[in-house]
Amino acid sequence: MIIVPEAVIADLITPEASFDAVEQVFASMAAKSAYNFPVIREAIGHADALYGFKSGFDRAGLNLGLKSGGYWPGNAERGLTNHQSTVFLFDADTGKCRAVVGGNLLTALRTAAAAAVSVAHLARKDAKVLGIVGAGHQAAFQLRAVAAQRGFERVVAWNRSPEKLDRLAKVAAELGLPFESVSLDDLGAQSDVIVTITSSFDAILRDAQVRPGTHLACMGTDTKGKQEVEAALLARTRVFTDEIAQSVSLGEAQHAIADGHLREADIAELGAVINGTHPGRASADEITLFDGTGVGLQDLAVASAAVDLAVEKGVAVEVEF
Ligand code: NAD
Repeated sequence: MIIVPEAVIADLITPEASFDAVEQVFASMAAKSAYNFPVIREAIGHADALYGFKSGFDRAGLNLGLKSGGYWPGNAERGLTNHQSTVFLFDADTGKCRAVVGGNLLTALRTAAAAAVSVAHLARKDAKVLGIVGAGHQAAFQLRAVAAQRGFERVVAWNRSPEKLDRLAKVAAELGLPFESVSLDDLGAQSDVIVTITSSFDAILRDAQVRPGTHLACMGTDTKGKQEVEAALLARTRVFTDEIAQSVSLGEAQHAIADGHLREADIAELGAVINGTHPGRASADEITLFDGTGVGLQDLAVASAAVDLAVEKGVAVEVEF
């Protein structure tokens, strides 16, 4: 069995490799050769922790396994990350455990890769201004992955506490992109692509703030009750997602579905666009929205890529198990 420790992941897998792994597995999901198993998520009644696992099987990539993890709010006091996750991969032919892989950094990379894949397939080719809503842990990964998909000329960003935008400003500077902290009105009026990556439970971005031709990657809403954009926006938007069952129940679309602004049948899988079975963006004026809910198969895809790279670079730890 192979162990890929968390500490080596940063030097192993790039945003580009994560992009390829996630694009491939979204395509497999739409082609019905990969599917996610039901998600388990429980408040365990100890340490205020939320624990769960996401699992699935990709018959095309032969990735079988699960990501186990959750949220331990007291970890910061112990000098540990609050979100903890580990990916377990199994040999699809024998069921033997193939690898255990640190899943913390991989989670950020696979989430950013999903937004990037949506931008690659749905944003206008001439997109110039990238808007980011949110400045938490995930936001910098989103900026880095999405910025690579178009010839962006500048970044505008909004956060509830604007002083926390410093980290995003630094990443933009590294990427050679001018950066500005703006109001939500200005962000909507200027952006060609908008990434929302907050843990908000109320709509932040309003329907009237988004202009025609925009592509939105709504990445923060991954739980029942969370919301980042006004539900009415989804009524005039072409909506795509990673997995329709999650989009309507715990993704950004949950509110538009409940309010009658959107029907489940109006939501398409991003994988169908990748496979060429859905035309994707229909015109330069259309607003497209990717409801990125986060699926276990994304975790398995990037973990498997990390295992291959660890073996190739000689940093995988092999143990008899
Ligand atoms: P974080 O705690 O580091 O940052 C949270 C961000 O949300 C901050 O910018 C904060 O200002 C903002 N925010 C919180 N409440 C808000 C409100 N009411 N109004 C406006 N802004 C508000 O979190 P993170 O790790 O960056 O994760 C962000 C979100 O992404 C979370 O909801 C997380 O669950 C979700 N997430 C989704 C996926 C996926 O696959 N879709 C994967 C990982 C994380």
